[in-house]
Amino acid sequence: MLVQANILTDIVTTIFEKSGSPLDEASLVAGSLVKANLMGHDSHGVGLVPTYVRHIQAGLLIPGTSAECVKDDSAIMMFDGRRGFGRRAGGEAMAAAAERCRETGVVLMTLRNAHHIGRIGAYGEIAMEHGMISLHFVNVIDHGPTVAPWGGGEARYVTNPVCIAVPGTENTPPTLLDMATSLIALGKARVALSKGEQMAEGLMIDANGKPTTDPSVMYNEPKGALLPFGDHKGSGLALMCELLAGGLSGGGTIQPNNPQQKSIINNMFTIVIDPARLVDMTWLRSEIDATVDYVKSARPADPDKPVIVAGDAERARTAERMAAGIEINDEAWTEMRETGEGLGMESRVFEAS
Ligand code: NAD
Repeated sequence: MLVQANILTDIVTTIFEKSGSPLDEASLVAGSLVKANLMGHDSHGVGLVPTYVRHIQAGLLIPGTSAECVKDDSAIMMFDGRRGFGRRAGGEAMAAAAERCRETGVVLMTLRNAHHIGRIGAYGEIAMEHGMISLHFVNVIDHGPTVAPWGGGEARYVTNPVCIAVPGTENTPPTLLDMATSLIALGKARVALSKGEQMAEGLMIDANGKPTTDPSVMYNEPKGALLPFGDHKGSGLALMCELLAGGLSGGGTIQPNNPQQKSIINNMFTIVIDPARLVDMTWLRSEIDATVDYVKSARPADPDKPVIVAGDAERARTAERMAAGIEINDEAWTEMRETGEGLGMESRVFEAS
């Protein structure tokens, strides 16, 4: 079914309010999940709502919790998300770091112990709203590994996302590289499983380390694993996400001596840079324009697919989905309806949509 973004946002906001969030937190998290759907990242969209609610009910996600600044040392800022909604904690930490960056020119910000922070691009967007460049390295803990290291036949990493955000100019939209270091985000297997679809070849292995296209291997025991992007290079980047985000935030890494309560905790290592402290901004903007234009001017390998850069695909999908609505498959919608009804919402809310 197709649901308009505003209707979906209202429904999800109500679900989170009924789960214990104040309205501003509920609508922030709901808006952020719907934005992920709009951008085409259904793996990080409203399909996560039942999981978030289950984690709240199990005491693994604590609504109404703000990020605590545990170290404020000029250009070094460390935050603890205290198991609150990651989008709230990450947004608060990021806004503080971006504001500080105006004074210090560069800020190293860490966030630990936040429940799932969602699409990492959201934090790059906050930096860019302040005119800053940002780099983010993230690890995911509190559950078992899901991604095999290069050459491995079983999982040792999680999807360890990396994001780099460079603000746009008058002529060039923001460049937002936002990606898992696995070939696909884990939620893409969840989306395929719920649609009853097979995955493309070459993305995952089964529990015996053999290639498979069956998304259920990620959810049934013994589990299979996703593969890293870029062979040994993506695998190396994932390890750096563990060491930087898990290590330097103090939140811990995927290694098995750390607790695994089957929730989703993110740690993030972030560098924020004020480009105006380094180069002349008029010159930088003209370089951004010229570089992006040059890259996009490459003759396409497929004449029907012009070259695009990071951020373009999400902008195009947002325009499409704002107009047409967001497609939610029956199983995901049923799960959301059952979650809402379990919290006392009337079933007609879901029927009318
Ligand atoms: P993806 O593979 O769809 O896109 C990755 C990047 O490639 C994006 O910046 C996109 O703009 C760019 N891109 C896409 N098509 C392109 C093309 N044809 N040419 C040039 N660039 C192109 O994204 P993904 O790796 O599946 O990640 C999806 C989302 O999942 C991200 O928002 C990520 O932050 C999020 N994520 C979050 C967590 C977490 O723990 N919170 C973990 C993993 C992933």
